[in-house]
Amino acid sequence: MLYEFYQSTNPALSFELFPPKSVAGEQLLYQHVDRLMAYQPSFITCTYGAGGSTQSKTLEIVGEVKRRYAIPVASHLTLVGSTADDLRAYLQQAVDQSVDFIVALRGDPPAGSTHFQTTPGGFRYANELVGLIKTEFPQLGILVAGYPEKHQEAVSIDSDLEALRRKLDAGGEVVLTQLFYDNEDFFRFRDRCEQIGISQPIVPGLLPVTNLDQIKRITSLCGAKLPDEFVNRLGQHNDPDWQFQVGVDQSVQQVEGLLAGGVPGFHFYVLNRSDATIKIMENTNFNSSIVG
Ligand code: FAD
Repeated sequence: MLYEFYQSTNPALSFELFPPKSVAGEQLLYQHVDRLMAYQPSFITCTYGAGGSTQSKTLEIVGEVKRRYAIPVASHLTLVGSTADDLRAYLQQAVDQSVDFIVALRGDPPAGSTHFQTTPGGFRYANELVGLIKTEFPQLGILVAGYPEKHQEAVSIDSDLEALRRKLDAGGEVVLTQLFYDNEDFFRFRDRCEQIGISQPIVPGLLPVTNLDQIKRITSLCGAKLPDEFVNRLGQHNDPDWQFQVGVDQSVQQVEGLLAGGVPGFHFYVLNRSDATIKIMENTNFNSSIVG
């Protein structure tokens, strides 16, 4: 089912949520998802907190999204702090709750540490988790992460691509990319993937910028670069409305460029909000093919 979303002539849409920390945040989340549903996403995903801190919340959110909107859902899952048996137990719960797909990840090192620590009895790299899912939970579709600007810890672009290929060879069906702001980085990455024989759909991950400080924090954490010209424009006015509009304009251009480049879909990091994503959809050609 997962692969098929990306075979359609209309690019597939997915939205990524995170588990809110409060009841108020959760209520707000569904108000925003209500609005996003007008764009008929193929599926919705929810992140898995650092150190597995949000495990049950992640499953709760995807379960509730599925119940309310009757669409496929994906739980992210990382290796952090888990033995292989812990991962099996989580995957079994996901299956029991009718989760459709897993975004299979290694996870980041804990705050303050630069190296990922393998949990005794656990795995070291995401491809091992992919292999576990493929072998023991074949009913779950598998998405994996790809890095247009190279993963921060990878020693080279080539070794990072080999790591991606291992995840796909182990059973990954679709690549969702890390956020990026220069389409050339994405197209170069896609070309390199093609050159080494990767044929699975590669779906750009987009995080619309709505606030300069927030985005500087996020990009410094994940290593994505912000084009100077864009940062300069955002910084011209310390005004939230201005920054929101500049961010939306940039994303609209990005989406148009990616559509022209023939991407199979878009994965929006919506951060539990809908405003920016809706403005982007309203202002791109993509919109006309979805909402009619
Ligand atoms: P891997 O594919 O295991 O790669 C990790 C590093 O090891 C890379 O540098 C790779 O090149 C290298 N490597 C891989 N295999 C080998 C090998 N055999 N030998 C040597 N080197 C190797 N984090 C969360 O905590 N929760 C989330 O919900 C979450 N969701 C995400 C969603 C998306 C779409 C993306 C792009 C990222 C997400 N992340 C999330 C962040 C992710 O956990 C980090 O980027 C993490 O540092 C790497 O995860 P990975 O699955 O890509 O790891």
